[in-house]
Amino acid sequence: MRLLIVEDNEEMARLLKTGLTAKGFDVDVTGTARAASAALARTRFAAVILDLGLPDADGLSIVRELRQRNDPMPVLILTARGSAQQRVDGLNSGADDYLVKPFAFEELVARIQALLRRPGNFLGHSLRFGNVSLDTEARQVFVGARPWYFSSREIDVLEVLMRRAGAVVAQRHVEDHLFGLSSDIESNAVEVYVHRLRKHLAEAKATVQVHTIRGVGYVVTEKS
Ligand code: CA
Repeated sequence: MRLLIVEDNEEMARLLKTGLTAKGFDVDVTGTARAASAALARTRFAAVILDLGLPDADGLSIVRELRQRNDPMPVLILTARGSAQQRVDGLNSGADDYLVKPFAFEELVARIQALLRRPGNFLGHSLRFGNVSLDTEARQVFVGARPWYFSSREIDVLEVLMRRAGAVVAQRHVEDHLFGLSSDIESNAVEVYVHRLRKHLAEAKATVQVHTIRGVGYVVTEKS
């Protein structure tokens, strides 16, 4: 599987390339936003590892570019920018995951593998995570083999989280998914639906759970 690393620090780029190649990936490296755009126009990558502080542009512009043309290519931001607001901005731009430098190489690999396992962002009608499966066309949830009733809003929340299972989904992204552009949403509306969803998942003995990352968003994980 081919990865694109966008990183202008040559030492970091070299370490990433060596480490990820040793893990069995094919790795291309570019050091500017311009070269990254050109590479992305030419080649399908399994995922992009993206630094934000690039010499010619902010790395976020690359994610926005991809999402503007509805390209679901997974993007993991790897940056020194570690504040909650910076993470929110990164996830809101359409990135799938966000890892702050300095980082443990094994964590980076685990996160890349999680991204690659994820069900297609825009494709496929059946999402499965843990013992929960969701038919996004029929709007039906199964826990194990058994169909369970979830409200339409709960299914909306579950769908947006399951499409990125294991990664934090920005609060704003969940709101957009639920309410589109309608402006008069109660500020805690999403939290209310998440709370009900959590309760129903527990009642159904689902092996997945929804966590709130305060000020950032939500993540669905498998119970260990
Ligand atoms: Ca940089």
